[in-house]
Amino acid sequence: MAVLVRSGARSIPSLHRSLHAAGVPVEVAGEDLPLHLDPAVEPLLTAMRCVIEPASVTADEIRALLLSAYCGGDSAQLRRLGRALREESRQANEFGLPTTSSGELIRDAVLTPGLLATHDEEVTGVARRLSEVIVLARQAMATHDDPHEVLWTLWDQQPWRNDDVRTWGQRLERSSYSGGAQGRRADRHLDAVLTLFTLAMRNRERSAAGGARGFLHNITRQSIPADTLVQRGVSRDAVRVMSAHRSKGLEWDFVVVADVQADVWPDMRQRGTLLQADQLVAHDIEDVHPLTTTLAEERRLFYVAITRARQRLLVTAVGEASENGSQPSRFIDELIRANPTLSATAITARTPRPSTLPGLVASLRAQLLNDGLSKAERDIAIQILGSLASEKVGEELLVPTAHPDNWWGVREISGEDVHPFPPEKQIRLSGSQLESLVTCPLSWYLGRAVRANGPRNAAMGFGSVVHALAEEAASQDVTPHIDELMVHLDRVWDEVSYDAVWQADVERGKARDALINFLSWQAANERRLIGAEESFAMDVTIAGRNVHLSGKIDRLELTSEGKVVVIDLKTMKSAPSKDSTQENPQLGLYQLAVREGALNDAIAQFRELPSPDEEITGGAELVLLRLTSRGKTTVREQSALVADEASSATWMGELLEEGVAQIASGAFPPIVNDACTFCDFKTACPTTDEGKGVIA
Ligand code: SF4
Repeated sequence: MAVLVRSGARSIPSLHRSLHAAGVPVEVAGEDLPLHLDPAVEPLLTAMRCVIEPASVTADEIRALLLSAYCGGDSAQLRRLGRALREESRQANEFGLPTTSSGELIRDAVLTPGLLATHDEEVTGVARRLSEVIVLARQAMATHDDPHEVLWTLWDQQPWRNDDVRTWGQRLERSSYSGGAQGRRADRHLDAVLTLFTLAMRNRERSAAGGARGFLHNITRQSIPADTLVQRGVSRDAVRVMSAHRSKGLEWDFVVVADVQADVWPDMRQRGTLLQADQLVAHDIEDVHPLTTTLAEERRLFYVAITRARQRLLVTAVGEASENGSQPSRFIDELIRANPTLSATAITARTPRPSTLPGLVASLRAQLLNDGLSKAERDIAIQILGSLASEKVGEELLVPTAHPDNWWGVREISGEDVHPFPPEKQIRLSGSQLESLVTCPLSWYLGRAVRANGPRNAAMGFGSVVHALAEEAASQDVTPHIDELMVHLDRVWDEVSYDAVWQADVERGKARDALINFLSWQAANERRLIGAEESFAMDVTIAGRNVHLSGKIDRLELTSEGKVVVIDLKTMKSAPSKDSTQENPQLGLYQLAVREGALNDAIAQFRELPSPDEEITGGAELVLLRLTSRGKTTVREQSALVADEASSATWMGELLEEGVAQIASGAFPPIVNDACTFCDFKTACPTTDEGKGVIA
């Protein structure tokens, strides 16, 4: 059987991967894949570029390299490292913004010698080891400008090497000995790597080849597949995958002509001989390769492909639903019209599970849950799973996924023994955390306790810059005039990561409007400013737990009656309701801090400290800098926090008790709310479609 495609470079790598994943043995004609696109060679060449011309390596390429079999990293490791580097970058920036994306930070950290050496190895993991290997390879290159030396250092010092984990090379060797489909795949990878080394060795023998840099350029610019030195033997038990060009003169019982998309076949790009000599005619230059000729050639090539089948032919293409999506080639229509015995079948259903061990285990597990089957049929599924689960190769289980211990979602839910907040541990809450906790405990736990948030987005950057400028204008560090504020804004605006320049320009205009709204609100405000960005912290006992409360208040102001008012500046795009502001936990906590004397140092500079029975709080306000109403900046108010006469408790105290009890319970259920649309944790939340695989 063979699978034929129009373009080897475009279609063969993905076909190769998919067929392997489905457990189908595959033989790819080596000449159909340029060597630099071979999955085993690609990471080595990227690592070589990190050594020779690091400036050309992009953040995406570094990420792919770290996740490749060569480095053996995983996404969780990279996320952890990205978070740590972003935090560091944010601390180094005057507006608390990371200077660049986490991908760029990881790229710079890997390519800059020693930059990761000062970080905890738990966090830097494979990125640090890759960085060290790159340094070693640079030293090798400084000694001998020889591609073979550079490659050997990269191969011999593979980043995954440590005491208990095998390197990629060792794993390939082991798989190769074990045989089967995995062994054949390992052989192919080793074969490709060997070809790369042989070409590097040849380069050494040719003095004009340009050293390591010349070798790298030659290999990576090769779009014509490489001379593989060894013509691989062709296995009769494997599916051959090759380009239609190479299939001329060959035949198979069953042929699949795949990826026959309109944008692939016909390939109407102009072509000709190297020096275009075929265009020279007696008196002039003539275009002898018009589009009609190209189309006829492409049609002939398609004919070659479909006539390679002795018994069965299958032509496949994808028709995307979207208007601009890829569509099947016109050649398929032409083929059906010319051959009334052929028919087209549209497949919209899920493809059946592959006939592999993982596919079998999945089918058997599905049978266990199928109420339509009899008990006897389910018992048979249990027996087969049982025997698969106990099957071993040497000391290792052959199919560990057949054992229920390894099934997702069947383990006992953890209890007190792994409580994330045991009684002796202090609970730490800030105003914004309390708001997040009461809105959705699951989101609070994942975001604030586990710190699994996504990267800081542009909206957060917008808010940080506007807040920082408002604070400076309030404290007179910057002249409170819009032109002056915009000069400061422009110095940092490029650091707010917008996807496109036009978007950054539009948002800059909105930031300007927000600052104008702030200045007009401030000009009309008759209260005295006690302080901007006032921090507080207090340790209290709530519901029997030691709790640390902290926060930073945007503005603290004094009324002419001597009451203290809390101001929180917001850059949200829509206003919360007046009712919900009355119970806003963040404002409530800030008022509680004022009431409990946590801000007395600042207040004492403007008035006498209150007597024990005096209510000092004068309420709180949200100032919504992006919104105006009747020409004025929109403000939402919260009444002064006062104690209930009967119970001498405040609503805020009760809310804190509720929040602390929630944390102490160790259970963090999801609560669907207005912010779900923007939640970072939809894939981990059982209330959403994306997260419905989550059990609890
Ligand atoms: S999607 Fe909604 S309910 Fe789920 S974790 Fe996020 S905020 Fe909570």
